[in-house]
Amino acid sequence: MMTIEDAQNRVDQWIKEYGVRYFDIKTNMIVLTEEVGEMARVIARKYGEQSAKKDEILDLEDEIADVLWVLICIANQSNIDLTKALEKTINKKTIRDSQRHKNNSKIL
Ligand SMILES: [Mg+2]
Repeated sequence: MMTIEDAQNRVDQWIKEYGVRYFDIKTNMIVLTEEVGEMARVIARKYGEQSAKKDEILDLEDEIADVLWVLICIANQSNIDLTKALEKTINKKTIRDSQRHKNNSKIL
């Protein structure tokens, strides 16, 4: 089983072994946007009203992993510990939103 820390280390090792170096953060931000767009395309075709083009492959798992990959690259090159960051976000959301969604009649 791969932890978030393992994932950050695996991506870092891969970049050092095969990627030469991280793309600069601005390039990675653009690549992240591109990958999010590819993920959106799959969702639009699979779950939305768009139809797939002839022979188009719609692989949501692959596109989500691409997004995660670039996100991890950006975290690594910014010295961000994603485990700590996610814990902080979960706590923030719990404090801020613990009742918000339960009281949202639109989703009940
Ligand atoms: Mg992709």
